[in-house]
Amino acid sequence: MTRGDEPPPGRLQGKVAVVTGTSRGIGHAIALRFAREGAQVVGASRTPPPAPFPGTFVATDVGEPAAVELLFERAVELHGGLDVLVNNAAVEHEATVEETSLEAWNRVLAVNLTGVFLCSKEAIPHLRRRGGGAIVNIGSIDGSWAEPGLAAYCASKGGVLALTRSIAIDFGRDGIRCTCICPSYVRTEMLEQYFAAQPDPKAARARASTMHPLGRIAEPEEVASLAVWLASDEATFASGHPFLLDGGLLAGLPFGHGAA
Ligand code: NAD
Repeated sequence: MTRGDEPPPGRLQGKVAVVTGTSRGIGHAIALRFAREGAQVVGASRTPPPAPFPGTFVATDVGEPAAVELLFERAVELHGGLDVLVNNAAVEHEATVEETSLEAWNRVLAVNLTGVFLCSKEAIPHLRRRGGGAIVNIGSIDGSWAEPGLAAYCASKGGVLALTRSIAIDFGRDGIRCTCICPSYVRTEMLEQYFAAQPDPKAARARASTMHPLGRIAEPEEVASLAVWLASDEATFASGHPFLLDGGLLAGLPFGHGAA
């Protein structure tokens, strides 16, 4: 297959999936792909997705326990159970530790890490009731290495990796698999926000492509493809580990990586 080709639909037929952060970017691409693969999708973000959304949308702040509780109540009430949770919602804050206010730190951790905790906590009893299921966390390579001026974000993504391992070992016997996709640079508004915050946004944009051995950044649909596999019954022995999706970035530095 070449890029852009898609496998036949139906790999998530009959599954109920809650996906967070579905108003745009990677989460939106995952919701569309899951629906095309036959899943019944309940999308959750603070702002609504563009219409038409292929499923139900529930306005939710994943850092708010009461809102998260309502989200899962709604999903189960609508579809009679839950098979898959994708913890995708996150925010980025471009600052070093010295520049990060306590308020900004708390907000990043509340969405990126506490959000994963709260959604997983609500989802696990429902997944267990179905005899198992999949939790797919969207982490980042920033959980394994650091980029300048992203302290709170890097810390939150390191936490997501640790939580992935904990959930996998605590609930494996319930048939619950927990994995983490760790992308590098993906063409979304979050990445645009990151570029815009750099001293030379144009150079940062160009460097993003040249630093990857594949010579480009990822598209949201490429993350969605891996999420489909991890959520599906094709991935029944995948649990507890990160899945790097980085165009070869962490394999080493290709010639000319610094060239704009
Ligand atoms: P994005 O900013 O384009 O979209 C984020 C989504 O999360 C939006 O729908 C937004 O409404 C939602 N969201 C934000 N705060 C929320 C909250 N409190 N409650 C509910 N929803 C909330 O981001 P993206 O680039 O699509 O990122 C998606 C995931 O991929 C994130 O976990 C991000 O850390 C990760 N990631 C992105 C990149 C990248 O280069 N874009 C790289 C690695 C990892």
